[in-house]
Amino acid sequence: MPGDLSDYRRKRDAKRTPEPMPQDGVLPHGNDDTFVIQEHHARQLHWDVRLERGGVLVSFAVPKGLPPEPKVVRMAVHTEDHPLEYATFEGVIPKGEYGAGKMTIWDRGTYETLKWKDTEVDVVLRGERVRGRFTFFKGGEGWMVVRRGAPQDPGWESLPEQLEPMLATVGEMPGDPEKYAYEFKWDGVRALVRVEGGRLQIFSRAGNEVTATYPDLAELGKQLGSAQAWLDGEIVAFAGGKPSFAELQKRMHIGNSAQARKVAGQVPVSLLIFDLLHFEGRSLLRLPFADRRALLEKLELRGPNWYTSPSYPGAGDAVLKASREQGLEGVIAKRLDSRYVPGRSTAWIKVADVRPQEVVIGGWRPGEGRREGVLGALLLGIPEGDGLRFVGSVGTGFSDADLESLTETLRPLARKTSPFNGKLPPERARGAKWVEPTLVGEVVFRIWTPDNRMRAPVWRGLRSDKSPGEVRLNG
Ligand code: MN
Repeated sequence: MPGDLSDYRRKRDAKRTPEPMPQDGVLPHGNDDTFVIQEHHARQLHWDVRLERGGVLVSFAVPKGLPPEPKVVRMAVHTEDHPLEYATFEGVIPKGEYGAGKMTIWDRGTYETLKWKDTEVDVVLRGERVRGRFTFFKGGEGWMVVRRGAPQDPGWESLPEQLEPMLATVGEMPGDPEKYAYEFKWDGVRALVRVEGGRLQIFSRAGNEVTATYPDLAELGKQLGSAQAWLDGEIVAFAGGKPSFAELQKRMHIGNSAQARKVAGQVPVSLLIFDLLHFEGRSLLRLPFADRRALLEKLELRGPNWYTSPSYPGAGDAVLKASREQGLEGVIAKRLDSRYVPGRSTAWIKVADVRPQEVVIGGWRPGEGRREGVLGALLLGIPEGDGLRFVGSVGTGFSDADLESLTETLRPLARKTSPFNGKLPPERARGAKWVEPTLVGEVVFRIWTPDNRMRAPVWRGLRSDKSPGEVRLNG
């Protein structure tokens, strides 16, 4: 590998890039003992490892960065020699130019050469962030890099391939409130996120990988840069400022990435991050929740589709009150001194302030006043025998668009007779229009009344993924 900058110059236009463009002529010589690693947010995030040699910087682009522990082999791409001046370059290469994107210095230092051949470069790096022996070698698949000898940090713990989530137990607000932190209960899907080398993988509660379903979260991996991490959180779709499980369902179960990208443009989701389980070679599972939380907050994770979900130590009453006012599902109380224990645990208490219930629509009453021409309330039932058992009516929680589209959907389902078993209370049946009981929806409500009706139900949306036969009474 003789030092040669002709490729470097050919790929770049000095008038358009801020990168250094040394004059032609004799190459300056150093002592062949310095290196720089640049984090390069190009189309694909990578780390450029550059070793000073023969008057140039011999360069490798490493997509996931240098491996943090021995025996881990990572891909490296041998790229064109760079001028020595490049070792201090930081800046943004403009759009449309070669290597467009932001470049920052990730580490620099000195190195010692153990072996330098056309197919193998064996060096010991001594930087501020990286120290240790690395071998770049050319195999059948191209160049690779492996760390040799001991890990940089003797206590380094490998990033687990999988982690099982800790689950809350349903219960009441704790009697010793000062021992807990309180969070809003979000109506979405649980997501455990593994980040390595700027790439993330998303796993469902059951451990299935769903990364391709949520392409709008990929940038979170880049925000974490070279850090290794496991995060815990909930993926939520917001509609009108509130979590909407019905909206989220338009995103779930799409495994095809092209299709997922298309739907992501129509139905954005947010990842609400609430726990940090592993970070930079250290498992945090055995740390108390309060310490994990402090480490998470220090990362200041925030982006267009993700942020750290708030947690309020000792403030259970205030969080419950706010949850009610905002029509959220309730509160999760997490013991401040609790370790992260995969599976169901009593250290996390789910205080459900409203309960979700799937229902079958058996009829509707036309609206009055402002709701003239659209529906005023839906009449709801639970399948029982050949018909429906009436469980209440819902007249709130609809957006204007919901009212229009539901009315349109219900009209062709009209029938002459009531699908409900027995008679409805007269004030509910007055002016009622009956429909074939084929539509399933979801409501939330606070409690069952003594005559088995839902008190103050609020509409959440149609559940087009469910059939009436699947609707069950929630306890
Ligand atoms: Mn690069």
